[in-house]
Amino acid sequence: MAEETIFSKIIRREIPADILYQDDLVTAFCDIAPKAPTHILIVPNHLIPTVNDVKSSDEKALGRMITVAAKLADEAGIADDGYRLVINCNKHGGQEVYHIHMHLLGGQYIGPLVASR
Ligand code: 5GP
Repeated sequence: MAEETIFSKIIRREIPADILYQDDLVTAFCDIAPKAPTHILIVPNHLIPTVNDVKSSDEKALGRMITVAAKLADEAGIADDGYRLVINCNKHGGQEVYHIHMHLLGGQYIGPLVASR
C-alpha cells in the first residue's frame, strides 16, 4: 500500500492550498513554489505514486487531468501563447512528491525542453 503524501491532505482540504478546480476525479491547485507565472498542479484524487504505477482503470482520471489543464490554461489566459505540461517520474525525472501530478507551466516563454547534465 503506497503512502499518502501532502497532496492527499490538500485534496481532502485538511491543509490549505489555493485550489482552482476539483471534481470527483481530479484536483488542481497552485504550486507552493512557482517556477513560472502560472504554475498549477493537477492531480488525481486517488493516490497513484508514479507513472510506473498507472493502470488502465486510472485512464479516466488521467484523461480528466488533461481536460482540466486545458480549461485552466484558457482561464489563465495562456492558452494561445502556449504552456508546458510535465509529469516527472522517479529520481531521474526529478519527482519529489510521490502522488502523480501534472505541472501546468506558462505565462512566459518556457522554451525548448533541455536536460541538465
Ligand atoms: P515534482 O518535483 O514532484 O514533480 O513536483 C512537486 C511539486 O510540488 C513542486 O513543484 C513543489 O513546489 C510542489 N509542492 C510541494 N509541496 C507542496 C505543498 O505542500 N503545497 C503545494 N501547493 N505545492 C507543493
